[in-house]
Amino acid sequence: MTANGTAAGQKVHKVVIIGSGPAGHTAAIYLARANLDPVLFEGMLANGLAPGGQLTTTTDVENFPGFPDGIRGPEIMDKFRAQSVRFGTEIHTETISKVDLSSRPFKFWREFNEDQPPELTETLIIATGASAKRMHLPGEETYWQSGISACAVCDGAVPIFRNKPLAVVGGGDSAAEEAMYLTKYASHVNVLVRRDELRASKIMAKRLLAHPKVTVMFNTVPTEAKGNGELLTSLRIKDTKTGEERDLEANGLFYAIGHIPATSLVKGQVDCDSDGYIVTVPGTAQTSVKGVFAAGDVADKKYRQAITSAGTGCIAALEAERLLAEEEVLDPVDATAANHYTGTDKQ
Ligand SMILES: Cc1cc2nc3c(=O)[nH]c(=O)nc-3n(C[C@H](O)[C@H](O)[C@H](O)COP(=O)(O)OP(=O)(O)OC[C@H]3O[C@@H](n4cnc5c(N)ncnc54)[C@H](O)[C@@H]3O)c2cc1C
Repeated sequence: MTANGTAAGQKVHKVVIIGSGPAGHTAAIYLARANLDPVLFEGMLANGLAPGGQLTTTTDVENFPGFPDGIRGPEIMDKFRAQSVRFGTEIHTETISKVDLSSRPFKFWREFNEDQPPELTETLIIATGASAKRMHLPGEETYWQSGISACAVCDGAVPIFRNKPLAVVGGGDSAAEEAMYLTKYASHVNVLVRRDELRASKIMAKRLLAHPKVTVMFNTVPTEAKGNGELLTSLRIKDTKTGEERDLEANGLFYAIGHIPATSLVKGQVDCDSDGYIVTVPGTAQTSVKGVFAAGDVADKKYRQAITSAGTGCIAALEAERLLAEEEVLDPVDATAANHYTGTDKQ
């Protein structure tokens, strides 16, 4: 055993990826094709999500390019995983519960193995994702993805919401944006705001309040999701000042009450913003720690889409590859060859 608690002669991975959504698998595909032998930890219900991440909780994904007829969420994530495996990614169905980023190589521990010496990696890609906050209303489990959603951009265009009254919960910029987006499809959008004012920026609030298809209902919270057993049809809502309750017609309920980025693992070790998202250098996947990259929703509180996550996963992989080449952990020629498409030579 060495002074820092690692075993002498222990293997040091070139790159380890934590997380198995579109960001993690895209990074893995690029790194495996560059012969960097990536090791990906897909989690064992980490952060309450199955391996494959948030898309495993949805039905149809209609906005991921390459699937003109749409594709089921779990199915697209099976395809991501199969492509990672095809190029040689080593995948472990385990959760990483601890990391030490104070020096390189970085140390990490698998859940239930924290009393063992740490494993080591030269570079680390954090792609642990995020989860939408939910209210856990009575009826929510029955109508989740059958009227209830946490993403207007993902789900707003589906037929069950077309020309129907919809509701958005929340009073911040996200709620305002989601509501405005839904006006394209809905007959009307009711925005349910717990307090007597909007937290959204002045300009967003002004646009929202002026929109002819939007009603902002202040001091109002939903207390129950109701439906016909298959689809949501109405909400029980409550006035937070008077306690009065009534039913509100709604074929859709969109939560816009925030997301929780899965950053507890790296908290205090890499810079995070006030909402807990990992801060990256704009236009890159670099974090405040050299050799640690972040990709996907864990570092993106604005877009939170599968395609943007895949995009930043690609960026993280190319940056990890470049750093390893610069540091001569890799032969620079080998390292860059596999990921550079010349136009005539498809790798
Ligand atoms: C219901 C729903 C529907 C959606 N529909 C669409 C859509 O139609 N189109 C679209 O573009 N986007 C959609 N999104 C958004 C999209 O799913 C996310 O933007 C995307 O999945 C984020 O990808 P990610 O790679 O950052 O990680 P995530 O998908 O969040 O996955 C992260 C994974 O990492 C694992 N993990 C976390 N911590 C650890 C750890 N310590 N060790 C090991 N593993 C860990 C988690 O268990 C999880 O499996 C939807 C989201 C939801 C919730």
